[in-house]
Amino acid sequence: MSESTTDESNVTCGCKVGRIGQRYGLSNLDDELVRYWTDRTDERYSTRELAEHMNQRVLQAALDDAGLQYRDGEIENTYRLLTGDDVSSGTRVQTRKELERDSVPVEDIEGDFVSHQTVYNHLTNCLEAELESPSDEERLERSRDKLGALRNRTAAVTEDTVAQLDRNDVLDVGEFDVLVNVTVTCKDCKQQYTVRDLLEQGGCDC
Ligand SMILES: [Zn+2]
Ligand SMILES: [Zn+2]
Repeated sequence: MSESTTDESNVTCGCKVGRIGQRYGLSNLDDELVRYWTDRTDERYSTRELAEHMNQRVLQAALDDAGLQYRDGEIENTYRLLTGDDVSSGTRVQTRKELERDSVPVEDIEGDFVSHQTVYNHLTNCLEAELESPSDEERLERSRDKLGALRNRTAAVTEDTVAQLDRNDVLDVGEFDVLVNVTVTCKDCKQQYTVRDLLEQGGCDC
């Protein structure tokens, strides 16, 4: 997977992404960033995910330099332990200690991690990449997915809450189902739609 040779043709700029990419010999980095960013499927990376991807490659290159062996998924996990919001400070300290013990210069590496803003600037300023705006169909599709996920979440939280109140004898209910319905009312004609129907038919009848 990893290549330690520096591909000179890959050097595009002096911004942090360019410098770090060159220092760690991250071959095909620019190609990868542009390709993942402009991918027109659901696999498309946000700049946050791109920064994460690049930082994981930095971490991997550093572990390679230190001659460490790692298993599948270990790079991603180590990166998460170093940077994740949900990781306790104790775990983070422990992870850093272990890396330092293995002669990995953790502090330098963390300083070399890039932010999503830096990646965005590199893409748009240095590489002059542009994000095609999504088609109407794609927008509808994404909106449907987003609202569907929100409905599922609302249903799950409602179910948990009711079940818990029931368990604690604060509330008395038999077996139950939760149904989440979101309606949109057109103020021009007072017609009501479920949001699903409204998206499906592309607008109000009025
Ligand atoms: Zn750049
Ligand atoms: Zn209407």
